[in-house]
This record gives sequence, structure tokens and C-alpha cells, in this order.
Amino acid sequence: MPRPAIDLDALAEGVRAGDRALLARAITLVESRQPVDQAPAQELLVRLLPATGSAERLGVTGVPGAGKSVLIERLGEHVIDQGLRVAVLVIDPSSRRTGGSILGDKTRMQRLAVRNEAFIRPSPSSGVLGGVARRTREALLVCEAAGYDVVIVESVGVGQSEAQLADLVDCLCLVLAPGTGDELQGIKRGIVELADVVAVNKADGSRLGDARRAASDYRQALRLLAPSLAGWQTPVVTCSALEGTGIAELWEAIRSHRGLLAADGALAVRRREQELRWLEAAVD
Ligand code: GDP
Repeated sequence: MPRPAIDLDALAEGVRAGDRALLARAITLVESRQPVDQAPAQELLVRLLPATGSAERLGVTGVPGAGKSVLIERLGEHVIDQGLRVAVLVIDPSSRRTGGSILGDKTRMQRLAVRNEAFIRPSPSSGVLGGVARRTREALLVCEAAGYDVVIVESVGVGQSEAQLADLVDCLCLVLAPGTGDELQGIKRGIVELADVVAVNKADGSRLGDARRAASDYRQALRLLAPSLAGWQTPVVTCSALEGTGIAELWEAIRSHRGLLAADGALAVRRREQELRWLEAAVD
């Protein structure tokens, strides 16, 4: 079906002005797999690129049920309280697109979704290995161009996706919860090694003791691993997304990591290396 030509100038201008409807349209365009959309999507990205690069890119991963969604909502609210704007891209392996609308899990992050300073967007993973959508990187850049200070990418941890997510963000936060059966499992799979910050969630009620013990186990184990960044000791923060405790500490840990990354040009190096790997993957 022939489509009207996209006014890329208006779209790029709208994104940069922070127009949410146009931001959503722009993301739909860059995520599109339709051959007809490929050239305009690239054109749009070229126009937006000068406005990208300044956001804090945060990845959040963990097994289903660890509490990522609730935690991101709380963290998002905390970030907004600091006077910042936050975009959340949720890589949702189950989401399907029908006629342009996403029939995802709409009940997630409702509290954050109503905030003017927040933009939440499910990103269909289209069955791509590990669940990190191929176009998520582009969607992240579009959010940056729209002026969001923090862009959070949430991905379900299923083994290989963590490495892909780590290649997308400045800081990777691994969310664990006592009783979800992944205590210290991650170390074997190399996931903990990729994490810049570890959050042991559900530190509340009857699980508080288990959470503290798990955190202490992780702290010890992490001492034996190579740091994700020279001079960085991966912090393990206990928190409860449900009760809102430990959220400020988690944000502080993320900020400290940011401080170290920015201090000696490590952020620029990390991003350059990431770009190279994405380029190599694209060529493959
Ligand atoms: P996700 O699959 O990792 O995104 O996990 P969700 O955010 O959907 O949470 C899974 C379940 O754990 C839900 O029933 C939440 O209400 C619950 N949950 C999330 N965070 C906490 C927490 O800090 N404490 C407790 N007790 N439950 C939590």
C-alpha cells in the first residue's frame, strides 16, 4: 500500500523539540523492518545524530520476576525528583505490533507513565537473539535527541542478552532477588562480571535477611572478579522497589560509576568501542 512521504524535517524538528507524539512516530520509523522505511529511518538518524550523546544510558537486566519493572518505576520517579527527564525502553519479547499500536503489557510502570518528565516505550525484540532488539540502539539515540537526560533500557536476562545490553549502555545494573533461584548463578554465566552495579531487590518483609545474605555473598564473589571498569569496585545495593528503600542509594551508585567513567575520558572510549562492535555486528 503506497504511503504518503514522511516529512523528515518536521519529524526531526518535533523530536528535538520534545514532542512526544512525534518521538513515538520516530521510534516506530527507526524500528520498522519495512524495506520502504529503511532509507527515511537512516535519513532521520543522520539529522538527529548531532543532538545525541549527552544522555546517561542505563541498562537494567535480571531474570523475570526479579522486580525490574517496579524498580525502574521507582528509580524513574527518583530521577525525576532530581529534576531530570527519563525515557524507558522496554525490550519485550512478547510484545506484538498490530496496526501500529503495541499490545504489550500496559499495566507496567503506570505510575511513571503518567509523569510528563517520563517517556515509556516497549520495544519488540522480534525474536532477535538474547532479546536485545536490533533497533533499540537507534531508539535510544532518538530519545537522546529528544532531550531525555537518562535513558533506561530494560531487558530480560536470558544469557546472551546481557553482553548486548552492556554494549548499548554506559552503566549496566543487574537486578537480583532472593528466592528467584539465581543466587550466584550469574557468576558462572559471566553476567555479574558485566554488571557495573548490582541491586539485590525485595529486601523487605520476610526476605530481608535472605537479601542481605545474598548481597554479602555477591560482594565477596565480586572481589574475585575483574572490575567492569578500571578502578571500579562493583557495588552491591540492597533495595526494595515495593517499599522504596535503597532507591536513592542505587541512584548514588549509578552516579558514582558515571563520575568515574566521565573523569578520565573512559566514557568516550567505552562508547567508541561499543560503536565499533555494533558496526561489526551490522556488517556480519
Ligand atoms: P520483572 O519481571 O523483573 O520486571 O519483575 P516485576 O517488576 O514485574 O515484579 C515481579 C513481582 O515481584 C511483582 O509481583 C512485584 O510486585 C514483585 N516485586 C517487585 N519488587 C519487589 C520488592 O521490592 N519487594 C517485594 N516483596 N516484591 C517485589
